Amino acid sequence: MHLRLSDEQRMVQKAIRKFVEKELMPLENEVLRNEREGKPGLSEEKLKELQLKAKEAGFWGINTPEEYGGANLGHVMQAIVTMEVSKTFVPFRFGGSADNILYYANEEQKKKYLIPTINGDKKSCFAMTEPGAGSDTRNIKMTAVKDGNEWVLNGEKIFITGGNEADFVMVIAITDKERHQATNGREGVTCFIVDREMGWRSEPIHTMGPSTPASLIFENVRVPEENILGELHGGYKLGLEWIGYARWMVGARAIGAAERLLQMAIDYAKERVTFGKPIAERQAIQWMIADSAVEIEAAKWLVLNAAFTLDQGEDNRHLASMAKLFGANMGNRVVDRVLQIHGGMGYTKEMPIELWYREARLWRIYDGTDEIQRMIIARNLLKGHVKLGQFL
Ligand SMILES: Cc1cc2nc3c(=O)[nH]c(=O)nc-3n(C[C@H](O)[C@H](O)[C@H](O)COP(=O)(O)OP(=O)(O)OC[C@H]3O[C@@H](n4cnc5c(N)ncnc54)[C@H](O)[C@@H]3O)c2cc1C
Repeated sequence: MHLRLSDEQRMVQKAIRKFVEKELMPLENEVLRNEREGKPGLSEEKLKELQLKAKEAGFWGINTPEEYGGANLGHVMQAIVTMEVSKTFVPFRFGGSADNILYYANEEQKKKYLIPTINGDKKSCFAMTEPGAGSDTRNIKMTAVKDGNEWVLNGEKIFITGGNEADFVMVIAITDKERHQATNGREGVTCFIVDREMGWRSEPIHTMGPSTPASLIFENVRVPEENILGELHGGYKLGLEWIGYARWMVGARAIGAAERLLQMAIDYAKERVTFGKPIAERQAIQWMIADSAVEIEAAKWLVLNAAFTLDQGEDNRHLASMAKLFGANMGNRVVDRVLQIHGGMGYTKEMPIELWYREARLWRIYDGTDEIQRMIIARNLLKGHVKLGQFL
């Protein structure tokens, strides 16, 4: 057992840190200004320009297989990179990657969807949630009915990240009602790749945070048979795989943000003087700093363990739920304490703390709420799917 990054990992971490400090952090004031004016933090053109800069520096497709031009650095490295990039609220993501489930595409689909997505020529989104089915994904109502060589899709999806911009969606619909009912939703649903030109439309949903997901409306959208992703009736598994991947990544994102926020609080506490002393000398402030630091370290262990387990080709779902639950809540506690340490300034839009505060609230909701993660963790233990101490 070795509880330190390898030389190679440390090198990549340093290089990403440099990229974030040199290319992203200088844009923070502009992002804050845009946010205040209700505009997207970064324009699409600026994002592309930054992604190309990152590519020149060797950061492209961090976790994408080499055969698709990626660096294939694995999940631990992906977690480390995410933690570094999340130290800024500039909404940047590295180019050269695609949703994990798009790799189930057949050769034709790979040419048409996977490769253009990796190259940044097409944008995708994934749609499972519906107005009546969020946590309870088995309750989806969207249907796909076979008509000749096509499937006709009807229904509505909501809260779809990237749904306003996407060129195509990977959408889950019921393809066999009886099987769906008989298997309590586990079978009888299929994942379809559906181009926007096939007829679905999107409407933005404005939220309290920087993300603007979309509702997607399908009214008799005709999709050719060859656009089924993976197996017919096997879409539920794909949906769970997509959500499962996103889970521990939420924890990684929370760690990066929390670390930066805590540094801001430490710096501010040393400067801000009240009653003749810097507030850093007050125990009330010190305890908030100490608790935050401890929780960040604990979250790192959970996230890296989830990523490492996946790199070993093992089932990491239990650990992913733990990493998400603890990471998201840690992030919320830290941003709240950091705002408190900054007093009135923390509450203003002059500083990014309130922006992070609003964003952090989402971490406890999407990709499975706190309650759903607890339900999964408890169920695994009570049913004996996972044993205490199994991972270490
Ligand atoms: C900004 C944003 C982006 C999103 N992006 C996507 C996306 O790209 N694709 C996609 O498919 N979905 C996406 N989602 C949907 C997201 O995953 C769901 O919102 C989430 O799973 C919760 O579902 P819900 O909102 O329907 O809440 P509900 O399921 O209605 O839950 C309401 C409350 O009840 C609790 N609850 C539910 N069941 C139980 C239970 N059995 N025991 C105890 N408590 C329970 C929940 O924890 C929650 O507190 C996104 C959501 C948001 C807000």
